[in-house]
Amino acid sequence: MKTIGLLGGMSWESTALYYQHLNKAVQQRLGGLNSAQIILNSVNFAEIEKLQQQGDWAQAAKILQQEAQKLQCAEVDAIVLCTNTMHLVAPEIQQAMSVPLLHIADATAKHILAQGIQRIALLGTAFTMEQDFYKARLIEHGLEVLIPQEKDRATIHRTIYDELCLGQVNASSKQAFLNIIEGLKQQGAQGIILGCTEIVMLLPEAEACGLPLFDTTAIHVQAAVEFMLGE
Ligand code: GLU
Repeated sequence: MKTIGLLGGMSWESTALYYQHLNKAVQQRLGGLNSAQIILNSVNFAEIEKLQQQGDWAQAAKILQQEAQKLQCAEVDAIVLCTNTMHLVAPEIQQAMSVPLLHIADATAKHILAQGIQRIALLGTAFTMEQDFYKARLIEHGLEVLIPQEKDRATIHRTIYDELCLGQVNASSKQAFLNIIEGLKQQGAQGIILGCTEIVMLLPEAEACGLPLFDTTAIHVQAAVEFMLGE
């Protein structure tokens, strides 16, 4: 089994899900007491979130490059960055590495296309929904990407940072997300990307409003397990 390096803590709530899912998946495939070979480097999210707010992506990239290098020194075979948003600096991280960074948007696009779905809506932080680094990658794979309208994007962004990253799951927020998904369905979305690694805490179901939900945390874990086991 290859060793995976998790670059997490953004937030730790979702990194805990990566740790759990990776171990469960390896145990399921190999049986018995088998568990995943993981090296976890978990950063202080407050520092990263401050840089996001300031738009200082260069400094965020520098920190994550250094943290990824620590994983490389620990001899991991690949790196999994446990957040969609910070893939904004994935090219800079990859540049500083000799091992591959398993990109969350690549895994997600391949997974969705394999289901025969093409027109997809993206929920995530404002950075993920509004900037190009993530959408462009999905489009390159051949997907058509819809994003929610501005006030809905603000609701999603606020729920991620003020609730989910703090471990709070509120019924009223869940209802707000369902209303947004219903609107995206009316616009022709055939499925929804939970493009933030914490959204699954709010929407753990496989579908909502009759649309499949694509949980990027689970999809990213699946790609990592396939890499680890050489599948
Ligand atoms: N974990 C979240 C994501 O997947 C948001 C937190 C962050 O900004 O990294 O985008």
